[in-house]
Amino acid sequence: MPKNKPQDIALLPSHLADQIAAGEVVERPASVVKELLENALDSGATQIDIQIEEGGEKRIVVSDNGAGIRQSQLQLAVSRHATSKIQTAKDLTAVATLGFRGEALASIGSVSRLTLTSRFKEEEAAWQLRGEGEGNWSEPVPVAHPQGTQVDVQDLFFNTPARKKFLRAARTEFMHIEQLVKRVMLSRPDVTIKLTHNQKVVRHVQAASDETALVQRLKQLMGGPFVEQSLALEFEAQDIRLSGWAAQATFNRSQTDMQYVFVNGRIVRDRLLSYAVKQAYADVLYHGRHPAYVLFLEIPHELVDVNVHPAKYEVRFANGRWVYDFLRRSVREAVTRPVGVSGGHAEA
Ligand code: ADP
Ligand code: MG
Repeated sequence: MPKNKPQDIALLPSHLADQIAAGEVVERPASVVKELLENALDSGATQIDIQIEEGGEKRIVVSDNGAGIRQSQLQLAVSRHATSKIQTAKDLTAVATLGFRGEALASIGSVSRLTLTSRFKEEEAAWQLRGEGEGNWSEPVPVAHPQGTQVDVQDLFFNTPARKKFLRAARTEFMHIEQLVKRVMLSRPDVTIKLTHNQKVVRHVQAASDETALVQRLKQLMGGPFVEQSLALEFEAQDIRLSGWAAQATFNRSQTDMQYVFVNGRIVRDRLLSYAVKQAYADVLYHGRHPAYVLFLEIPHELVDVNVHPAKYEVRFANGRWVYDFLRRSVREAVTRPVGVSGGHAEA
């Protein structure tokens, strides 16, 4: 290996740059699952199958029935800074897709043995590409595969021992995956999703086509008691919309383990939002008890900056104070209202 003198500056080989970038995005197997699920959803999939082996450390396979990738674009899909989702700086100001960074597949591919198989909806054949973490991807070869995409990730972090060392027991890693998948299942009731661990089906939810199916699915994910004791909400003010379910004060938790907020379908961890809901419950919950909820905020894309963090868990609102107030006021109105009445409108 050539040794540079300390003062020499040299460009990193691209696969090494990919590995460094991977450090930001791919923290653990669950991060891989998150990126692959986002890609499947962005492709318009209505069915997604997730197969995990040994907590994802051995293998993660995500298959979807979305639009697929053209043969001519397979190589690009695994290249860094290559995306079909945004083109200009202006697009970045109003991202409507879950992905936009063009980094996930390249990053994951740089720290695993990755096989990408896809059949584009307008093409006759499916094609497959393989990489072993070195950046030299195979030429696409034709294979049999239905319309859609399958990403098969094996031996995660096999070439980055420092990162691999930080992986926990397979059971723990799978717990993170299951949590993540549950969130996605909550966020997209229109998609059938199946999660398998070591050949055993762990969660399987069907696309909900009507209200009854929706409630059934919610029950599967949040449990009967939550569903029986929560209120469906629907609030709108100017161009912001809140929907979902908030448990009445009778259903409360000792932990913050049943709190889900989605912003434009995106899984977010936002302290401002959870604080707003906490405040909304302040008068009806005992100190030390926590509310349970599944809430969906819809805000015009140009008022939310999603380009805050590589893993995309954080967002910034153009008008955070206003979002906070709207959320707190709406949830408070719902949970302090006499039981049995749901739905309503918050004043702007
Ligand atoms: P990003 O999602 O930020 O664009 P990725 O590295 O995750 O970046 O994916 C690169 C590109 O590969 C995407 O823009 C998309 O065009 C294509 N792609 C990846 N996964 C899928 C999939 N499951 N179905 C269809 N296209 C996909
Ligand atoms: Mg992506």
